[in-house]
Amino acid sequence: MAEVPTFKLVLVGDGGTGKTTFVKRHISGEFEKRYIATIGVEVHPLMFTTNKGNLVFNTWDTAGQEKFGGLRDGYYISGQCGIIMFDVTSRITYKNVPNWHRDLVRVCENIPIVLCGNKVDIKERKVKAKTITFHRKKNLQYYDISAKSNYNFEKPFLWLARKLVGDSELDFVQAPALHPPEVNVDAALMQQYNNEMMEAAAQPLPEEDDDL
Ligand code: GDP
Ligand code: MG
Repeated sequence: MAEVPTFKLVLVGDGGTGKTTFVKRHISGEFEKRYIATIGVEVHPLMFTTNKGNLVFNTWDTAGQEKFGGLRDGYYISGQCGIIMFDVTSRITYKNVPNWHRDLVRVCENIPIVLCGNKVDIKERKVKAKTITFHRKKNLQYYDISAKSNYNFEKPFLWLARKLVGDSELDFVQAPALHPPEVNVDAALMQQYNNEMMEAAAQPLPEEDDDL
């Protein structure tokens, strides 16, 4: 089999935001994951089928070390793209996003990064669209996701794939096999969230300090 283009994807964010749940949705990636004991990391090879051929995101997930502070450089080194995750039901996890971003770009200077607000299936959403501005200041992409329902699972990967391959026409032509949803999202509510995000994008950025 021909070599499949493979990219190291660094997954970061506060403990409890759903990083492990997210990465484990992809069935073959979970099956083929490798554990690197020296740094306490699981690497999940997530394969996607595109109109330009297959590609793999070797997605790095911690064994929970992030709960005790930052991650070691070995986690970030040679990262080619990133996902920063927060939990839309927990304001503190959004407040910590700039710290994760700083740590990531300190080692991986100029890589495409997606910010994901997870758990949008939960009705008591705390971090609303108008609060989510960090990605606009730093040129990241943003998506609402719900790991447990598979909602928008592919979106971050598609955006990263287009950036990495340098081809905005790239598309996924086959859905990856995912574990069945454990919860369901309300389609009308997701539409409302999308509308709120679009309205927020049309507003000028607040002029507060860059790091907040
Ligand atoms: P990590 O520490 O960032 O790896 O987070 P985990 O994947 O361990 O998830 C932390 C908790 O959040 C677990 O109880 C998950 O079941 C829960 N969780 C993760 N994703 C979702 C989601 O999309 N929706 C809901 N409702 N719960 C989630
Ligand atoms: Mg985890």
